[in-house]
Amino acid sequence: MISSCKIRYFKNKLLFLAAPILLYFFALNSGLAEGWEENRTRMIDVDLKPRGINSPEVLKAMMNVPRHEFVPENVRGMAYADRPLPIGEGQTISQPFVVAWMSQLLLIEKGMKVLEIGTGSGFQAAILAELEARTFSMEIRPNLARDVNIRLKLLGYEVQVRQGDGYYGWKEHAPFDRIIITAAANHVPLPLLDQLKAGGKLIIPLGNVRYYQNMTLIEKDSDGEFHTSQHGQVRFVPMIGSAQE
Ligand code: SAH
Repeated sequence: MISSCKIRYFKNKLLFLAAPILLYFFALNSGLAEGWEENRTRMIDVDLKPRGINSPEVLKAMMNVPRHEFVPENVRGMAYADRPLPIGEGQTISQPFVVAWMSQLLLIEKGMKVLEIGTGSGFQAAILAELEARTFSMEIRPNLARDVNIRLKLLGYEVQVRQGDGYYGWKEHAPFDRIIITAAANHVPLPLLDQLKAGGKLIIPLGNVRYYQNMTLIEKDSDGEFHTSQHGQVRFVPMIGSAQE
């Protein structure tokens, strides 16, 4: 008798403790815990500015794009955390810092023609569009390409998305002022170097596709010569298709 009372007491106590925790996680996940804008402001102040993102245009773009609209509902509560998140088909949306950092390294100016390889969720493409670049983006996975096309249209972003292997670039719209590759490769696809304008810049996570890569910036000078600089270790999902052959 005494022991069953004790068990009931502990059960009640457990429920008493667990309820607010469960409620908190529910609220966090559904975005009720804080407004999205507050979350974005915190992301800018805590994760971007102190780590060297100082381009006013990039910061403004990161503040304007609703990242929570680019991730599946079950991870929405973490949309503004500085971490990559799953977007289906084993792929991920890059962490906000990496998106901002790549955009900043590219020194994108209004009106530039930019090609992205690896549209994924469309978040990076939306940032490029916010920077007022003429944005073209290629996605190899048909389901992701279909979904992202709808998402970007619904959100009002003018981005041309094409399903296909980005290894060969997008000849009809070449040459590009900037090319951004958001999947890891162990070499730079030659067709992409060809489709880069003289004076243009290309960025790619280059290295061992199973482990780590180096954020590599390649600049093509007016004589068509390439200059490479490396900016630190990153980890991206692998570029598939011809890059793996
Ligand atoms: N930039 C994306 C995240 C990229 S994840 C975002 O903002 O959400 C990498 C993406 O590259 C995946 O969607 C993957 O399907 C795509 N990808 C991989 N290999 C590719 C290829 N050869 N051509 C085009 N897209 C490719």
